[in-house]
Amino acid sequence: MSSFLAVRQVRRPEATPNADDFTVVTEQLPVLGDGQVLVENVYLSVDPYMRQLMDTGEAGLEGRAIGKVAESRSAEFPVGTTVFHRNGWSTHAVVGAADLRRVDQADGVPLSAYLGVLGGTGLTAFVGLTRVARLQPGEDLFVSAAAGGVGSAAGQIARLLGARRIIGSAGSAAKVAHLHALGFDAAFNYREGPVGAQLAAAAPDGIDVYLDNVGGDHLAAAISSLRPHGRVAWSGAIAQYSSAPPAAPHNLAEVMFKTLRVEGFLVREHLDAREPFERFLVPHIQNGSVIVDETVVDGFGNVVEAFLGVLRGDNTGKMLVRL
Ligand code: NAP
Repeated sequence: MSSFLAVRQVRRPEATPNADDFTVVTEQLPVLGDGQVLVENVYLSVDPYMRQLMDTGEAGLEGRAIGKVAESRSAEFPVGTTVFHRNGWSTHAVVGAADLRRVDQADGVPLSAYLGVLGGTGLTAFVGLTRVARLQPGEDLFVSAAAGGVGSAAGQIARLLGARRIIGSAGSAAKVAHLHALGFDAAFNYREGPVGAQLAAAAPDGIDVYLDNVGGDHLAAAISSLRPHGRVAWSGAIAQYSSAPPAAPHNLAEVMFKTLRVEGFLVREHLDAREPFERFLVPHIQNGSVIVDETVVDGFGNVVEAFLGVLRGDNTGKMLVRL
């Protein structure tokens, strides 16, 4: 094999991206240098943050992938090793040993989970709940974009951490039903009415913690519902990735009156939590108490559509592409 396929961004979108912003190119495989391997990708991750990368013209150049080593000039990663890397949307990748991580697949855990609930997606939920919000047993939690990758992981992890009432918002009736099936105590469709009123109805006594994946009206609603000393772990702001940022929440002063803590975080600053998180979660996946919640799109030719789909909300659980 002398060439491989890769997705490249060809223009920057004004607002919501579309398929014409990308093209598929054929690239020649370089000769492997010392310490390099050729990876045949098996799963690719498509993530909302790639919409932000599109504003720099780099979407798809960086991104998480899992594959098998097909050729090797690294003693550490012989042919056949399953590896994780971040070389983005391509069928194959030439990667140096320093940029590879071996994936030791546990019994009974699907490989895809290592890009989803056990990957950066689940780690974001875990770090947001444990390190940022410091969720305590018996506390009440609200999660937005709850039927997506981070959200569905957060609901399930919060249950393991001893949360009392877990409330989620999502964009359709089918997703609300999905949240109930995942074990959320209450869920609502944010498209059906004002988020503030729906959250107040779902949590009449308030909440202690909000894991924010959305921003905008969801953040304002949570600020109103948080009890004194409540915490917001601000993970993402998908409501504004393709549009102008909304005005700041009208009720921001409640952060002061109720002595709330609102803290943003990036999972890449918490990679030391990956191994303890994996040790914590794997047994729960193995015994079935945590569901590997994912939407898998087949075929490299569908990478762009899968990415556009995650921005639209086509997915439940983590959106992945299987090659
Ligand atoms: P995801 O939740 O699986 O997919 C995104 C979901 O967002 C869609 O399924 C859609 O579901 C929802 N959505 C889209 N537009 C929306 C809008 N205007 N208002 C409300 N919901 C909207 O994606 P993910 O990978 O798990 O990421 C979730 C969030 O976490 C994103 O904001 C992402 O940037 C953030 N994140 C942060 C970090 C970090 O290090 N801080 C790491 C990973 C992810 P509906 O059908 O429900 O609308």
